Amino acid sequence: MITFALSKGRILDDTRPLLSAAGIELADDPDTSRKLILATSRPDVRIVIVRASDVPTYVRQGGADLGLSGKDVLMEADTEGLYEPLDLGIAACRLAVAVPEATDYAALIRRGRRVRVATKYVQTARAHFGLKGVHVDLIKLYGSMELAPLVGMADAIVDIVSTGGTLRANRLREVEVIAPITARLIVNQAALKTKRDAILPIIDSFARTVATLARP
Ligand code: ATP
Ligand code: MG
Repeated sequence: MITFALSKGRILDDTRPLLSAAGIELADDPDTSRKLILATSRPDVRIVIVRASDVPTYVRQGGADLGLSGKDVLMEADTEGLYEPLDLGIAACRLAVAVPEATDYAALIRRGRRVRVATKYVQTARAHFGLKGVHVDLIKLYGSMELAPLVGMADAIVDIVSTGGTLRANRLREVEVIAPITARLIVNQAALKTKRDAILPIIDSFARTVATLARP
């Protein structure tokens, strides 16, 4: 049995064509079903539905053999024991620094005082500002990062941006891109050895579909 860890929402919506091409159709609709383990059209493949930020943990600990995860989540996670064999090129966005429209960002990070940064991506933000020699006080949030500067709780945020619509709606401005983000296929290293014959064809199928989608 192959167990695949997925999160509802963006990643699942965007990767359904990849799953279908690998012959994996969900037996239940994850948006209406309360089941956490979903059977698929393949008797040897099941899907577990977990929080986006928990996908790397399930795969690393062997609760799942394979998973689909955003690079933003992987950058924050402990990826020891994980392979990341494939960039799926979907759910594309970027991890960026944003500040209120009126903020002079260059002056903000030059002034030598600590900069208050609100984010869900604490490790990644710490590493980014550390490399720039900017001292930051990180404020861990679990969502709606855009709110923090508006209520005076932070000077900047680090969040994923796709169209920039949410930033604009909250009068924030993107000032720096930390990393481009796409969804990745991740694999438990031990499972790849013990279940090689089942896992490799799935990776190959995903790779072929990704190549087809990338073609203009
Ligand atoms: P949770 O609800 O468990 O806190 P989440 O809110 O991060 O997780 P999603 O919003 O479904 O869950 O995002 C999952 C992943 O999809 C993100 O980690 C990111 O890689 C990608 N993603 C999220 N929003 C966008 C977007 N607007 N455009 C492109 N990719 C996105
Ligand atoms: Mg979300």
